Amino acid sequence: MIRTNEFVVVPQSEAYEELLYRLLDGAASLWNQLTYARRQRFFDDDDIWEADCFYDEYKGLLGSATTETMTRVNDRAWRSFFARNEGDPSAQPPGYWGNEDEGRDLQIFLKNQAYTLQWGRYSRVELAIGREIKPEYGLTPNKRPRVPIRGNPTWREGRRGELQITYDDLADEFRAYQSVVVDAPPTPGRDDGEAAAFDIGVINLVACATTEGSQFLYDGGVPWEQFEATTDTISEAQSKLPEGQYVSKRIRRLYRRRSARRDHSVDALLRDLIERLTEAGIRTIYVGDLTGVIQRTRLKRTNRKLTEFWAHRRFTDRLTDLCEEHGIALLEVSEFESSQECPDCGAVAATDRNRERLTCPCGYDGHADLTAARTLLDRERADRPRLMAQPVRFKWDNHRWRSTTDAPAWANPNEQRTNP
Ligand SMILES: [Zn+2]
Repeated sequence: MIRTNEFVVVPQSEAYEELLYRLLDGAASLWNQLTYARRQRFFDDDDIWEADCFYDEYKGLLGSATTETMTRVNDRAWRSFFARNEGDPSAQPPGYWGNEDEGRDLQIFLKNQAYTLQWGRYSRVELAIGREIKPEYGLTPNKRPRVPIRGNPTWREGRRGELQITYDDLADEFRAYQSVVVDAPPTPGRDDGEAAAFDIGVINLVACATTEGSQFLYDGGVPWEQFEATTDTISEAQSKLPEGQYVSKRIRRLYRRRSARRDHSVDALLRDLIERLTEAGIRTIYVGDLTGVIQRTRLKRTNRKLTEFWAHRRFTDRLTDLCEEHGIALLEVSEFESSQECPDCGAVAATDRNRERLTCPCGYDGHADLTAARTLLDRERADRPRLMAQPVRFKWDNHRWRSTTDAPAWANPNEQRTNP
């Protein structure tokens, strides 16, 4: 099982900062040259593997190990393209890192022998670099530059794999991603212990119900408004571009800011929720088939934006990691009609789902998202009595998810009366 440690590389001197830029730019330059050579051959129907590998040109700067690794990462990209291309003629061959106007995307890959990490009081990474440039940084041939790092890696045990370092120009930060091969933790059984179910949406990003009765609602208002506001700014900036131009540095920054903000709120949400659930002894989480979320038509107009907001792949990866970290089994279940089903009489067609409420002719009236989560849970754990505590509601304040239910009862009487 491969996991990822994420941390930040923080050079303390101008010389080492320049060295990092230089290495990442060199790696990106190698990537682009190799990609160009291979694309030329590909479009000419020649064997791409015959293209020049630029080894001698880069080994003095990157070192032989990293020059080879970069070439292998490029090989990998081409092999996965060829594999995809068989079933999907619209697949695109590997592209360049960056473009002429804005420069290269700075990025490098190092194999496990080309770096060492040390975590502790003086956490640092040691990088293998080319011999040719060592004297410029006062390094003897056998010395590797040491650069401080900052972070709190989850996966300290296990076999270390590739290290990727990228420069994030929005945050002005060198970010590192280290892959680690770890043993799989024992997976708890399906019917083992308490369970929770999630309903994913927009009005509430996540509604969660558990077998031990707690209910959590994470209000989508603030993250959603921010996301939409940036989307509007992007459209405005796009409308002002000269004809024939589709993107600008500013627009790229706005896109990145939009994702960074969204990721920040969603990551914080998942961590907050998983920690609460762990504390409550939850061993299993049922989540609807996430790709289905965007097909739901309850908010037709915002569906396109909903797709953009819920970066599914990232969301599922994050959730999977967190569950593994906490020893919780994550099971995908069918969401079929769960958001329309009346929990009291089982009616589906007759119910009315209207924003926050789900009502049924039988008299049922409940919070729509919580009811959907509850229905998913009941389908899996029909034997469990249906317990329901007051839902705890959370709002995003740009730093963390604050419970709005902890406020005294008189502060917001309506909230206290919410009947899930
Ligand atoms: Zn009913």
